[in-house]
Amino acid sequence: MSEFQQLVYASRATFAPTRGHSSIDIEVARILTISKRNNPRRGLVGALYFSNGYFFQCLQGPAQAIDTLYTQLQSDPRHRDVKTLQRKPIAEPSFSEWAMKYVPNASEVRSVLQRFGRSAFDPYSFDAPIVDAMVDLLRLGPDGSARLSAGSEPATVARSWLWPALAAGVAVIILLWAML
Ligand code: FAD
Repeated sequence: MSEFQQLVYASRATFAPTRGHSSIDIEVARILTISKRNNPRRGLVGALYFSNGYFFQCLQGPAQAIDTLYTQLQSDPRHRDVKTLQRKPIAEPSFSEWAMKYVPNASEVRSVLQRFGRSAFDPYSFDAPIVDAMVDLLRLGPDGSARLSAGSEPATVARSWLWPALAAGVAVIILLWAML
């Protein structure tokens, strides 16, 4: 079996929307902060879509890391009725460095819904083809170019090597300098 898996689930938010001055709901922003802190060290990447009071989240990474997070997620009081929509082996994670890409209520999602004859965003009714279409949209954007308007910056699975590499470089320079 593949080391990597993709998990997609739907859930219902338990909190009332609170936007503040930001375009992102305050609770959702907190969830993104935790995700960006935790996911890189667990080797997880993915995307979160929040609309109509529903969460639609795609997680990719090592099967065991997904299991651990999914167990935590089930008892998170900020949502309920967590329903697995898809779980499958994948060759490798495809959200590149997105620790958790947040996609705000995107007009492109409406196009996907229309394509599948849906009028409202209700992820509990999604079958496999619409789940795949949503994941592709979150991952690549409407034209396959990864330009879907994302509400957060890419963070850092790929960049986690940067500081150790810089430190090693500085150490080599100091060593060479000392040897002269
Ligand atoms: P801490 O962040 O230190 O939190 C400690 C405890 O407090 C946890 O039990 C947590 O559930 C609870 N908690 C923290 N803040 C709140 C709050 N505002 N309201 C209620 N309870 C709170 N976590 C990830 O690591 N990666 C993800 O991709 C991810 N996606 C999520 C998606 C959704 C839709 C939701 C609702 C939550 C998501 N979380 C995610 C959060 C996850 O459920 C856990 O809360 C988190 O992983 C715990 O992180 P921690 O162990 O560092 O604990």
